[in-house]
Amino acid sequence: MSVLRLSDVSWAAMRAALDAGRRTAVFAVGSTEQHGPHLPLRTDALLGDALVTRLAPRLGEVVVGPTVPFGVATHHMAFPGTITLDTETFQAVVLQYVRSLASHGFETVLVVPSHGGNFGPLAQLLESTGGEVGGARFVPYTDLAAFVAVLERVGRDDGIPPEVSGSHAGEAETSIVLAERPDLVDMSAAVRGFDGVFDDEVAQRIFTGGTAALSANGVLGDARPADAARGARYLEALTDLLAGFFAPVLEGRP
Ligand SMILES: [Zn+2]
Repeated sequence: MSVLRLSDVSWAAMRAALDAGRRTAVFAVGSTEQHGPHLPLRTDALLGDALVTRLAPRLGEVVVGPTVPFGVATHHMAFPGTITLDTETFQAVVLQYVRSLASHGFETVLVVPSHGGNFGPLAQLLESTGGEVGGARFVPYTDLAAFVAVLERVGRDDGIPPEVSGSHAGEAETSIVLAERPDLVDMSAAVRGFDGVFDDEVAQRIFTGGTAALSANGVLGDARPADAARGARYLEALTDLLAGFFAPVLEGRP
């Protein structure tokens, strides 16, 4: 199954695809934010690209929309280069993206968050819209706990504990970027950051005091044991999770 990318083709090609029955679109919502001293600011957007590229062929004849490069990243603003949207603006961007697709005839729009701060606002949107936007079915993935659990499982299988694989810019995300774009990773700057267990109390400290209150280098986890082959396994496992969620949604639809 070939991946049809909306932003790589002409409007005429898009018209032809819609006429041929490609009425499902999928796009990721990432972020442009600090990921430690060793990873690029676009790490979460890159993760979004990687996930939808792997996911699309498993869902049939879908169209892949461009990844939204901005998310809700207020807690990373102490680090230069981070760009954040407030929650309302983020939600408005997603809504108008989906509405635009719906107006062209897309019947189902799937949304993949690739940044932790985007899951909650997407869940709120799902609730406020009832899963319908502009006449299209609006289906965001919103289970952050399951997403994190997959990363932890893949790490553990390789002897990497969750405090190392980390919730932000640790071994897991570093491995993923090594698998996708090793040219953007500076492993000589890879460091250990906050290495406690990421629980509700820690999450609370981050969302009130910002990431810098917990980790001066911006890393939650330990980036040093990162490995490209494991990064590919993280991506495959996340794709399995997403395909398992979205495929039943599309059942019976081309
Ligand atoms: Zn990230």
